Amino acid sequence: GSGVHRFFISEKDICDGTFKIAGSAFHHIRNVLRLGKGDALILLDGKGTEYNGVITSAERDVVVGKILDIRASDSEPSVEVILAQGLPKGEKLDLIIRMCTEIGVSEIIPMVTQRSLPKFTDSQRVKKHERWQRIAEEAAKQCRRGKIPKIRELCNFTDLVKEASSQGTLAFMAWESVHGSQGLHELLESKKNCSTRVYMIIGPEGGFSEEEASLAESLGISMFSLGRRILRTETAGVVAV
Ligand code: SAM
Repeated sequence: GSGVHRFFISEKDICDGTFKIAGSAFHHIRNVLRLGKGDALILLDGKGTEYNGVITSAERDVVVGKILDIRASDSEPSVEVILAQGLPKGEKLDLIIRMCTEIGVSEIIPMVTQRSLPKFTDSQRVKKHERWQRIAEEAAKQCRRGKIPKIRELCNFTDLVKEASSQGTLAFMAWESVHGSQGLHELLESKKNCSTRVYMIIGPEGGFSEEEASLAESLGISMFSLGRRILRTETAGVVAV
């Protein structure tokens, strides 16, 4: 890697110019990387701020150090893309989260639609959410982002399109129907500089129903085409983001 090790920590671990690291990051620092007094670290709050730090002491279960400087992460895009993903079958969402994290997505909203197939009990939903958020954190570390994408709670299509069309943000929906809607570049050109927050709404394997498309259009959400070929749901989200 590029020398200095990076760690996501929570803001409560940093206060007036010093940091302390415990828990699994501590174990990694001390027992895996064998770092100690005088070693440099880059600390990330997961929301886009980075700190240069240096270890001043390592106790039994905590590493303490000094913050040398603070800066905005330079590996974050200037646009916040929110991917609303029709809930796909199997482990596809793992792949979508990993790839879209690398590409710079800001949030991912797993979405229940008329044709999405998986059905979760409450406890499965909690476990899935924890797993998906962990995948996002691992991918963010691996690709050296400053921000860990937020994986939202499972949301239904109607609530999502209401959210996407309400906050003065841009909202686009990939619609593969024969209406042959415009391409994404064309659409973005026409909406340039309107907002730095953009919802990309992608259907599950079975696509969107006519009813879903017309609800979205009635809320001012623009349809776009990803071309003549039909992409898999896990491809479409990546291409759109
Ligand atoms: N209804 C599609 C069909 O005829 O096979 C299946 C849906 S496609 C596998 C999954 C999702 O990816 C779609 O709901 C849409 O959001 C997006 N998508 C895939 N190809 C697309 C295209 N060429 N244009 C627009 N959206 C596309």
